[in-house]
Amino acid sequence: VAPLDMPLLEDSVGVEDLVLLEPLVQESLLKNLQIRYEKKEIYTYIGNVVISLNPYQQLPIYGPEFIAKYRDYTFYELKPHIYALANVAYQSLKDRDRDQCILITGESGAGKTEASKLVMSYVAAVCGKGEQVNSVKEQLLQSNPVLEAFGNAKTIRNNNSSRFGKYMDIEFDFKGSPLGGVITNYLLEKSRVVKQLKGERNFHIFYQLLAGADAQLLKALKLEQETSLYAYLNREMSRVDGMDDASNFRAVQSAMTVIGFSDEEIRQVLEVTALVLKLGNVELSDEFQANGIPASGIRDRQGVQEIGELVGLSSEELEKALCSRTVETAKEKVVTALNITQAQYARDALAKNIYSRLFNWIVYRINESIKVSTGEKKKVMGVLDIYGFEILQDNSFEQFVINYCNEKLQQVFIEMTLKEEQEEYKREKSIPWTKVDYFDNSIICNLIEHNQRSILVMLDEGVPAPGVVSDSTFLAKLNQLFSKHGHYESKVTQNAQRQYDHTMGLSCFRICHYAGKVMYNVTGFIDKNNDLLYRDLSQAMWKAQQPLLQSLFPEGDPKQVSLKRPPTAGSQFKNSVAILMKNLYSKNPNYIRCIKPNEHQQRGQFSSELVSSQALYLGLLENVRVRRAGYAYRQGYGPFLERYRMLSRSTWPHWKEGDRKGVEKIIEELSVASEEAAFGKTKIFIRSPKTLFYLEEQRRLRL
Ligand code: ADP
Ligand code: MG
Repeated sequence: VAPLDMPLLEDSVGVEDLVLLEPLVQESLLKNLQIRYEKKEIYTYIGNVVISLNPYQQLPIYGPEFIAKYRDYTFYELKPHIYALANVAYQSLKDRDRDQCILITGESGAGKTEASKLVMSYVAAVCGKGEQVNSVKEQLLQSNPVLEAFGNAKTIRNNNSSRFGKYMDIEFDFKGSPLGGVITNYLLEKSRVVKQLKGERNFHIFYQLLAGADAQLLKALKLEQETSLYAYLNREMSRVDGMDDASNFRAVQSAMTVIGFSDEEIRQVLEVTALVLKLGNVELSDEFQANGIPASGIRDRQGVQEIGELVGLSSEELEKALCSRTVETAKEKVVTALNITQAQYARDALAKNIYSRLFNWIVYRINESIKVSTGEKKKVMGVLDIYGFEILQDNSFEQFVINYCNEKLQQVFIEMTLKEEQEEYKREKSIPWTKVDYFDNSIICNLIEHNQRSILVMLDEGVPAPGVVSDSTFLAKLNQLFSKHGHYESKVTQNAQRQYDHTMGLSCFRICHYAGKVMYNVTGFIDKNNDLLYRDLSQAMWKAQQPLLQSLFPEGDPKQVSLKRPPTAGSQFKNSVAILMKNLYSKNPNYIRCIKPNEHQQRGQFSSELVSSQALYLGLLENVRVRRAGYAYRQGYGPFLERYRMLSRSTWPHWKEGDRKGVEKIIEELSVASEEAAFGKTKIFIRSPKTLFYLEEQRRLRL
C-alpha cells in the first residue's frame, strides 16, 4: 500500500484530531487551529484531550438539545465538544466505577471558567432526577455566582477574571446521582483589594454592593452609593460593559440563600465587605507626635467611628493597632509608634487579610452546606480550574508559585497520559506496548520544592527585614546552591561562565521551565512569602463584637500564646499542591486545554503568534507526539465499521458476522500492513497516521 499524504485543504475544516496532523510541526498545528477557528469550530481533539479556543461570542452549540445529542453518542461520532468529554467522564464514573478529574488549564481569558461551567451544567443535566437531587444540583451550581462575586474581577485580559484557583470535587452515589461536593481554593490575589492596575477593577462584590444595595442596607452598612468615594476602588474604572452590577448583587444574595447562608450570615459578610471599603478611607497623617518624634495618627475620626459601630470595635483600639507596634520580649512589652508609611502599610495589610480570610470563610461555609455526610462509598468527579503558565513582563512571587503549580500539573499530565495508554493496551489485551520517550520535568520540580535543597526551602529561611536586604540574601543563597544546576540561571552564574546576557536583571533569577525560560525578580519575595500580620492588628480584630470578623482572627485571642511561626505562603501552597496531586493521581484524568485567540476579547480574530506561545506552554505538540508514539488512532469496532464499511465489497452494504470480524475483513481487503493494525478486545488500534489518512482518502474517493 502506498500511503498518501493528505494535505490540509483550505476549504476544509482541518482535522478534528491533531493526531492526524501531517506533517507534525508547529506551523501545521497552528494552521489547523486557525482554519477551524475561522469556521467557528472552536473545539479540536488530541485523542481524548479537548483543545478549546475562546470564541468570544455565543455559539449555538450549547443547551439541552446538544446535551441530549452528546449523551447518546460515543466520543468520536460527533464533532469535538466539551460535552463529549464530560459525557465520557460521567459515563465511566457511573458505569466503570472510576473516579474522574477534569483538568482545565490555559492563560487568563482563555475560557477555563466557562469550560468548567459547561462541564458542570452537562453533568447536572444528565445525572439523576428528583427533588432531593435537584436541590443538591442547585446548591452546587449556585456556588459559582457567589465565588465569582468575591473572587473575580475585571482585568485588562478578562472582564470576569478569576483571581483564585479552584478545585471542586463533585460526589455521586452508586447510581450516579449527585450527593454534594467539596471546593478547595488556591491563592486569592489579595493585593487587588488595595490597588488595581489602570483599566482594572477591584473584586466584583464591592461594585455589586454599592450598585445593588437599597438605601436602607447602605445606611446600615454606613456606605454611600458613589464608587468614586472609596480609595480602594479605581477611580477611572467603575463600570464594565455588559455587566449589570446591581442585578448581579441580587443574584448573589439569592444564590447565598439557596446554598444555605442565613440572613444573619449574609448580613455579616456584607458588613465585613463594607469594613474593607471603609478601612481604605481611613486617612493617616503624621502630624502627631510621640515623645517629640513625628508619629502617625488618624485624621478622620468619623470614619473610624463608623467602622467601630459597623463591626463592634472601639475606635481607640483600632487607631492604636494601626499606628503602633507592640514588641513583646520575655520580660516586657515595648510599644513603638509607627511612621505614616508603616501605618499605611499596616492598614493595607489588614484590609488584604480581612478580605482573603473572608473569602476563605465563604468557601468553608459553602462546603459546610454541600458536604456529604453519608458514609457510603462515593464516586467522585473533580474539576480543576486553575491559571496556566504565566510569563509576564515582570514576574514575581505570584508567577513563581503559579508556574510551579503548572510544572507539577505537567508532571501529572505526562505520567497519567502514558499510564493511561499503557492501561488501555492492557485492557484491550494482546496490544504490544511501545515505550515512549518524553522530557521528565522532575528535575525542575525538585529545584523548586525539594525538602532540603530547593528554592522554596531557601525562601522559608529568609527572615523579613526592612528594604531589600533579605531578598538579596535569598538570591545570593540561590546562586551559591544552584550555580551548576542546568535549569537555573542568574547574573552571577552567567558571569562565572562568561556569558554576558543583557536581558538578565541584577535582582533576578531565571528558571528554565518545561514551557520556557522565565525570569523572576526577587524583590518582595521574602515579604510575600512570610505574609505576616502584626499581632496588634489580629488582636484588635479578635476584639470585634461581630462574630464573623472575630472568628477570622483566631490568633488574636490573647490566650492563644503560640510562638510558632505560622506557615509561610510558599509552604502552604506546596502543601496544597501536594494534596491536589495526590487527589488527581487517584483519578482518571480528562483534559481541557483552553487557548485565547487574541488579546482584545474580540470574536473572529486569530493571532498566530499568541496562539503559538500558548500551544507551547500547553505542550500540545509533545502531547500529540506522546499520543502518536504508540498507536495514533483507536476506535471501537462498531463505529469503525460504520465509517469504513463502504471500503470492502464484503461489508457493504450489509454485514452480519459481528463488528470485529467486519473490521478485520476491511483491513485485510485493503492490504494494510500487519504491524499497522492491532485488534483489541473492543477496539482497533492503528499505528501511524498515514494508514488512517489512507483509509480516509479511500473513503473520500468513494463518496
Ligand atoms: P478564564 O477563566 O480562562 O480566565 P473565562 O472562562 O472567564 O476565562 O472566559 C473569559 C470570557 O470569554 C468569558 O467571560 C466569555 O465572555 C468568553 N468565553 C469563554 N468561553 C466561551 C464560550 N465557550 N462561548 C462564548 N464565550 C466564551
Ligand atoms: Mg477563570
